[in-house]
Amino acid sequence: MLQKDKSTTKSSKSATSKAPPSARGIDAPIQFLKGVGPKLGILLAGRGLPTIRDILLFFPRAYEDRTQITPISSLQEGQRATLPLRVISSHLIPIRKLNRTLMEVRCTDDAGTGSLSLKWFRVPRGMERRFTPGSRWMATGMVKMYQGKREIVHPELAQLPEAGGEAAPTGDSAHHSRLVPIYVEVEGIASRILRNLIWSALDKHLDELVDELPTGLQRKHALPGLREAVRALHFPPEDFSGKIESLMNGTSPFHARLAYEEFLKFEYIVLKRRLAIQKERAEAFGTEGGAEAAAALEKMLPFKLTKGQKEALKDIMRDIAQPHPANRLIQGDVGSGKTAVAFLAASVVLAEGGQAALLAPTEILVEQHYKNAVKLFGGKLPVAILTGSTSTADRRELLARLKAGKPLLVIGTHALIEDDVEFRRLSLCLIDEQHRFGVEQRRKLRNKGLLPPLERGGRPGLPHFLVLTATPIPRTLALTAYGDLAVSSIRERPPGRTPIKTEVLTTAKDRARAVAWIRQEIREGRQAYWIVPLVEESEAEGFERLKNAVHEAERLQTQVFPEFKVGLLHGQMASDQKEAIMGAFSRGETQLLVSTTVVEVGVDVPNATCMVIEHAERFGLSQLHQLRGRVGRGEHPSSCFLLSHPGVVEASARRLEVLESTEDGFKIAEADLEIRGPGEFLGTRQAGSLPFKMANLVRDRDWLIKARDDAEELLRTDPSLSLPENASFKRYLERYGKLQSERLGTS
Ligand code: ADP
Ligand code: MG
Repeated sequence: MLQKDKSTTKSSKSATSKAPPSARGIDAPIQFLKGVGPKLGILLAGRGLPTIRDILLFFPRAYEDRTQITPISSLQEGQRATLPLRVISSHLIPIRKLNRTLMEVRCTDDAGTGSLSLKWFRVPRGMERRFTPGSRWMATGMVKMYQGKREIVHPELAQLPEAGGEAAPTGDSAHHSRLVPIYVEVEGIASRILRNLIWSALDKHLDELVDELPTGLQRKHALPGLREAVRALHFPPEDFSGKIESLMNGTSPFHARLAYEEFLKFEYIVLKRRLAIQKERAEAFGTEGGAEAAAALEKMLPFKLTKGQKEALKDIMRDIAQPHPANRLIQGDVGSGKTAVAFLAASVVLAEGGQAALLAPTEILVEQHYKNAVKLFGGKLPVAILTGSTSTADRRELLARLKAGKPLLVIGTHALIEDDVEFRRLSLCLIDEQHRFGVEQRRKLRNKGLLPPLERGGRPGLPHFLVLTATPIPRTLALTAYGDLAVSSIRERPPGRTPIKTEVLTTAKDRARAVAWIRQEIREGRQAYWIVPLVEESEAEGFERLKNAVHEAERLQTQVFPEFKVGLLHGQMASDQKEAIMGAFSRGETQLLVSTTVVEVGVDVPNATCMVIEHAERFGLSQLHQLRGRVGRGEHPSSCFLLSHPGVVEASARRLEVLESTEDGFKIAEADLEIRGPGEFLGTRQAGSLPFKMANLVRDRDWLIKARDDAEELLRTDPSLSLPENASFKRYLERYGKLQSERLGTS
């Protein structure tokens, strides 16, 4: 906005006009709107509506149908009604006991079908004088019966012309005889006041709104123009009184128009960013022995890659064979075998002298990856480990090797992105469980692959970049939050996995059954997880009732399973302690492991066949699905019990049933997105940075897909946006494109 106003600033400086130097017209401060004084101006600015444009784009939260006029005689108690009234008389009635005055205005309707009183318990001075007998008002409010008579307390009113017995009010009005917008009331600004302001803002400034949607695309989807949509969202056209639902739930063509525009701008910018990265240079791998080396390692695996794994690997090999950086998301359900794919990809790079780094969120996970790499390839894949627990000597030695350019896959936690970790030739970055990391951390790793130009000696700039996620991401999110990444999906799980029977349990009896089941399983030699949400009793309100891991472990050991060994694992333990506990569990020395969600990622104990999750209602579906993925990893059938405490809102207990019905992480992710919104997948910060005001990723997903396709086509058919019909879209991009692009990048 600032940029746009530059020219205005100059001209108003030379002309000694009284108008504010910063903006005029639609971008003028809200005080410049008729009806807004300094006080209201400050209030509006304080609630995020500093300019006239802002208030024009401040859309109603609901609508009220005031097109139907009910005669007084047929009004029902409890009904919300709108009707034209004629004043018969008005009275101030003192209420001594309360030291207050009540005002009553007795009215009838135009046809004289009955009488109705309007009442106020707070009466501004002189108010009674407005209700002269014979004056006409459109009143809206809740009809009540008091001592057998109809009344509306504190009605919303609009004065009507004093017509000589005309039946219906005439003239266009913001407040009656239409679908009337209801705005969110904050800071004591009544919906009615906003309605008036927006009415006059539309009248004076709507024409100044510039439609930025390419006209070809507007036509293609038969969408209304921007101005038509904005006006209609505030004051819907007459023929929408039968379609009020579509306005309320955001599916009207006017909502669609704005949502689609948001998506189109977003997708265009994200795709452009992806194209830009594709133009950067990177080292190509695969033709100098790398592909053969990977094939040899693949043969060493004690299993055959699934179709999905093979395809993902092929995608990656194709990417890294290009002299441009790969930028790809590998998504696959828990246990779908993403790590093996990542290792094989790394082997291509190592075989040709490059270095690779695999960043994982927890030490448990890093250690497991490391052991896996050693075990699967019998030392044929050169790997190293780097975590906070790595000894100073080991660390020093490893850093020296990395700096010297030894071809290594280094697997590590955040310790990997510390400043003094330098690579000579980091050519491939792998990020496991990428949603656990922030953009900054991902960038930090990638930047370790950038060498100063001199040292680079002509060697190209960016490492290949692959992110792995076990939280399958709904397509809508993949297109938005990760719109700049290519996506490979591993949909099937390796053969031989047993299905996990999942049950939501709410009663004490059910719980007892779960305990009995676990006891039986452990007696047969199996093991079990018992998941609790928090480590220690939290002070935070609402959380006190949550079981805490420490207590729960004690209780289970002493009162429930005294005959078995119970271990305890939580995130606040030192890592050697965690390691010891996990080790004991995976060797079968403890049979029941009480844990917080630190087992969510990584832990692989095929002998564990039962899982109990306490307070399951506190978790997102995708997180529960991930937790559940810790069982069902071996030859024995597994079960998962989701304990949801009685008293939990039914809806939140019911959503757990999704987990009973499917083990498909993709389906679960879609359901989770619908129920909990994008924050669940992206973390609230990242989700909050999605710039959608009107668009809703769930409701408008079809529009998102259209916008994606259209943005692709636009980039192809008019890459410089030189067609006249794309001119205003181009101006939008020139103004905001760069800023948005920086904010939206995944890497
Ligand atoms: P995730 O995709 O959840 O990261 P992992 O890569 O940790 O899954 O793999 C889970 C387990 O499955 C590991 O023990 C791994 O060795 C094994 N695995 C991977 N691919 C296959 C396969 N194609 N067939 C059988 N087992 C496999
Ligand atoms: Mg994994």
